[in-house]
Amino acid sequence: MALAYIGLGANLDQPQQQLKQALRELAHLPESSLVAQSSLYHSKPVGPQDQPDYVNAVALIETELEPLALLDALQQLEQDHGRIRKRHWGERTLDLDIILIDDQIIDSERLQVPHPFAQQRSFVLFPLSEINPQLTFPNGMSLEQLLTELDNDLIRIRA
Ligand code: ATP
Ligand code: CA
Ligand code: CA
Repeated sequence: MALAYIGLGANLDQPQQQLKQALRELAHLPESSLVAQSSLYHSKPVGPQDQPDYVNAVALIETELEPLALLDALQQLEQDHGRIRKRHWGERTLDLDIILIDDQIIDSERLQVPHPFAQQRSFVLFPLSEINPQLTFPNGMSLEQLLTELDNDLIRIRA
C-alpha cells in the first residue's frame, strides 16, 4: 500500500465540475481509496497566458497500484474527460499529476516522482499544505520552508 498525492487541474468546459467529477473518480480507482482532498483554487496559467485561469486541487489517495499502473489509470481519466493535447502547458479539461508517492524517487521516461515542478508551484503546495502541513519531500525540503518562499497567488473557491 502506498500513499500518493495527486495534483488536479482544469481550465476548459466547466473546470470546477471537471475537478469535482475527477475527485469522485479518484475515489473509485481500482485497488485505491480517497483519503483526503483539498479545497478548489483558482490560479493563473503557467506557460501560455492566452488561456483561461485554472482550477486546481490536490487529493491524497491510498493505493495498491504500482506507480506506472497509477499513471495509466490517471491518463485514462484524462482521456475520459476529453483531454486533447494541443500545445505544451496549454488549456485542458483535466490534468492529473502524481506529486508524491510515499518517499519514493522515480526517474523513468514516463514518470518522475516527486513531480519535477511541484516544489515551485503555489497551486500544488498550498493545496498540499491543507491536507498535510507537516509534509517533507524526499530531498528533505519541508513544505513549510517551501511555502515561505512562495507568494500565495491563489483564490480559494468556497465550497
Ligand atoms: P507539467 O508536467 O509541467 O505539469 P503537463 O501536466 O501539462 O506539464 P502533460 O502533457 O500532462 O504535462 O504530461 C506529459 C507527460 O509527463 C505524461 O505523458 C507523463 O508520461 C509524464 N510524467 C512524468 N512524470 C509525471 C508525473 N509525476 N505525473 C504525471 N505525468 C508525469
Ligand atoms: Ca501538470
Ligand atoms: Ca500532467
